[in-house]
Amino acid sequence: MKAARLDAPRSVTLLGATGSIGRSTLALIAEAPERYRVEAVTAHRNVAALARVARETRARLAVIADPSAYGELKDALSGSEVEPAAGPEALVEAAARPAEWVMAAIVGAAGLSSALAAVRRGAMLALANKECLVCAGALFTREVRGGKALLLPVDSEHNAIFQALAGSDRAAVDRLILTASGGPFRSASRETMARATPEEAVRHPNWSMGPKISVDSATMMNKGLELIEAHHLFGMPEERIDIVVHPQSVVHSLVAFVDGSVLAQLGEPDMRVPIAHALGYPRRLATTAARLNLLERKRLDFEAPDPERFPALRLARAALRAGGAAPTILNAANEVAVAAFLAHRIGFLDVAAVVAETLERLELPEPTSLEAVLACDSEARREAEAQASRRPAPGS
Ligand code: NDP
Repeated sequence: MKAARLDAPRSVTLLGATGSIGRSTLALIAEAPERYRVEAVTAHRNVAALARVARETRARLAVIADPSAYGELKDALSGSEVEPAAGPEALVEAAARPAEWVMAAIVGAAGLSSALAAVRRGAMLALANKECLVCAGALFTREVRGGKALLLPVDSEHNAIFQALAGSDRAAVDRLILTASGGPFRSASRETMARATPEEAVRHPNWSMGPKISVDSATMMNKGLELIEAHHLFGMPEERIDIVVHPQSVVHSLVAFVDGSVLAQLGEPDMRVPIAHALGYPRRLATTAARLNLLERKRLDFEAPDPERFPALRLARAALRAGGAAPTILNAANEVAVAAFLAHRIGFLDVAAVVAETLERLELPEPTSLEAVLACDSEARREAEAQASRRPAPGS
């Protein structure tokens, strides 16, 4: 798709408009509504929030992914000019409509088909949904390379790297350094982690995010997923991507160049900053995000992650090295295990254990098409579900 004139309103579609990233994107749009025209907004089951967003933004289309919620959505939008639609196919159709810019902020592999549809028609895709690249990295990047789509990383670490790279030649890059907050259990004992409840796990010290990524941050699987994401986004081999714990979440990530220079992007932890970078791209938008004051911050700390308490990091590295179906299995098993933990069905430490067992038990061929990725994802979910069901419920 040809880039629109820089001063024309940007047409945008928000996949996952009702979530944490979706809301932050809407907050930025609300700061200058005349600069945007909202084509489509989508959600999973939250009809009330979706209808409110669709009315407020005067979206042309609102899609609820759960088909059984169609009647409710239609009622909620009656009297407005917003077209209601429902179901997974409608989600893909929403992404395929000609908006110049698409935010991919559905959580999990459920967002893959729609994100890919936006890539295939050549949209500017602001990618928050890292699971897309974990479960279908090769397929996704092949489609991006072979077409006209532009991938704009929204994950704060990858957005930082994207900014620090500033189009540099790949040969000039020595290493990528991903920073990690360490999550709520950074300095907790293994015994404390074994007893951790979902409520404690989602209480992130620096960021306010959806429940799935919050648990991923607590297990540090989030950093493992980001390692795989960085590999696909920036074409960097696993052994040249480092992970450093940085509890203040001010240095969002760094690029080390072959001449010894290291460039980083810094800022207060606020997802509106990387989202704004993508939303205005290639221009910078003014935001009301808090300004970094180094004299108030005073110190920035860095430490090595603990592989014993955070085995998810090792699992993700091993899956990336193994290649084939391993990253797809890792992602699906993690989604199942996190959902089981959030439902109080398994303990906190069981999350990584379920992922490890699922990876050990399944041998599947490398999925090279969307259909094959979805089939591999389903198979891994079945196995992970069986593994989770075998574990005693916490407190029993
Ligand atoms: P949330 O859980 O807050 O929101 C998820 C969104 O996806 C909601 O709009 C939800 O709809 C929708 N959704 C959930 N399941 C489905 C489904 N099966 N089909 C269609 N839509 C669905 O997540 P976040 O906003 O926190 O995260 C979104 C993505 O961004 C994740 O991949 C995450 O890793 C990534 N990310 C998030 C960051 C953050 O700060 N939150 C930071 C960096 C990356 P409904 O409201 O109806 O449930």
